[in-house]
Amino acid sequence: MNGSIGVLAYKSGGENVIFDAGMPNSASEILLSLRKLSINTESTRYVLLSHRHIDHAGGAFALLEQLPNASVGLHPFSVKGLSEPSKIYEGGRELFGDFATPMGPVQTSSMQSLEDGEEIRLGEGVVRAIYSPGHTSDHIAYYIPQKRTLYCGDVLGSFSVKTAKMYPTSIYPSFDYAKYKTTISKMRSIDADVAVFSHFGVISGVDINQILDMSLAAYRALEEFVAVNSSSMDKEKLVRELKATLKEATEIFPGPVRDKAAEFIARGFLEGSSPSKMGQQ
Ligand SMILES: [Zn+2]
Repeated sequence: MNGSIGVLAYKSGGENVIFDAGMPNSASEILLSLRKLSINTESTRYVLLSHRHIDHAGGAFALLEQLPNASVGLHPFSVKGLSEPSKIYEGGRELFGDFATPMGPVQTSSMQSLEDGEEIRLGEGVVRAIYSPGHTSDHIAYYIPQKRTLYCGDVLGSFSVKTAKMYPTSIYPSFDYAKYKTTISKMRSIDADVAVFSHFGVISGVDINQILDMSLAAYRALEEFVAVNSSSMDKEKLVRELKATLKEATEIFPGPVRDKAAEFIARGFLEGSSPSKMGQQ
């Protein structure tokens, strides 16, 4: 899925990590890119997952087969899901259709649950895990202090290099708006000036607060739409009308799934911002 999904690799002192694993069938392309970047697969220590969605976690099992010294680092909520991936696969098919290819299990012994704030040693540096629920309950962003770089996964939204805009990633059914807002406040203390988006690209040389404000503005636009229209529309009409405003937001997805993606973002925001969402994991 060219230009839709990216992973990040970071090298320090002869070791390296990969952030996210792409789709189940992304492994060969990722490994080819590592080779081009002269990144040695023997010295890959971790595949650090941002969250359980198939376009991020799906390729972990296949990457591990080619990375003999790597473990998968992830949120404890998702250890079971990765070891028995049928639920992740089915959820992935609902949104991505045939782009979501079958997913194999990751052995529990190859997974390492990460704690909030945990520092993963790598060569001469560290990578810090930052729990960042909102997009999903198991979301982790990763901060590399030496590079002042934040790997955002999907928590802030998607970023279009073409329009230089940020768009919401309130995917149904996991999105939780209250948790997302708490995560944004927490991220204000991170001293980053580079943000890397899985979908897709990099913002650099910009204060992290500006990046966080761009994200908040993208979600507030949805919030305002719902506030203005919720008294005059039932839920399904709201989903349809909100979906119609998300055309640009889904340009980052492959053509055939754009319409579905708009629906998942619209429904995810409506459900994820409703009072009944409060208090769920
Ligand atoms: Zn996701």
